[in-house]
Amino acid sequence: MDNHKAVKERLIDHYRRRGYVKDEKAFKAFMRVPREKFVPKKLMSSAYIDHPLPLMNTGQTISAPHMTIMILDYLELSPGQKILEIGAGSGYQAALIAAVVADEEAKGHVYSIEIVSKLIEFARENLNSAGFDHLVTVIEGDGTLGYEEEAPYDRIILTAAGPTVPPPLIKQLRIDGTLVMPLGRPGLWQQMTRYRKVSDTELVEERLSSVAFVPLRGKYGV
Ligand code: SAH
Repeated sequence: MDNHKAVKERLIDHYRRRGYVKDEKAFKAFMRVPREKFVPKKLMSSAYIDHPLPLMNTGQTISAPHMTIMILDYLELSPGQKILEIGAGSGYQAALIAAVVADEEAKGHVYSIEIVSKLIEFARENLNSAGFDHLVTVIEGDGTLGYEEEAPYDRIILTAAGPTVPPPLIKQLRIDGTLVMPLGRPGLWQQMTRYRKVSDTELVEERLSSVAFVPLRGKYGV
């Protein structure tokens, strides 16, 4: 029994009326993933408030529900895809993506890199308790270097804001694949930007919306 069904449906109804999200698969994923299992225990009752929430005392945040669903839309996901996420945080966004790309029939998978050690265990435990640990692999390291072992990826998503697209990520993206990232310096707003890789050397850029994310660290971060 999903105790949060009603509150989730209310949020979806709101997003649908506002036109925030077009892809119904995104709503299905939101219904399927228990967000309350990804927020710190003390904040469990705030899991469905439409705000980012702090991840312990790490200075990092789990994005607001509307942002996490909009990211599913931006990624134009379909079952069977292989995805790379930079910034596992709580593991929630990775689970949402997995809910779209992987099920019993589709063999999609999400690889998610996290640089803060304390959050790696947190993400793994959350994914485990929500039943998504077989669909998401959490990797420790600097995500701006990517994860060459499983490249190329159909989609790459950065959930932290950086000044430019990290070159290793372009290399690890499949031709015709897309990379979505909050582009800009930390401060108030960045531009959520989608890049389509049209050849080994050429990206086509599209600005999607104004967003506020925590800074991307690492070699090609801020
Ligand atoms: N997607 C997460 C929220 C991300 S917050 C969720 O669903 O909860 C941004 C995360 O990016 C933080 O956990 C931060 O530690 C991580 N991060 C920042 N720079 C990184 C880098 N270079 N490599 C990997 N993770 C990074």
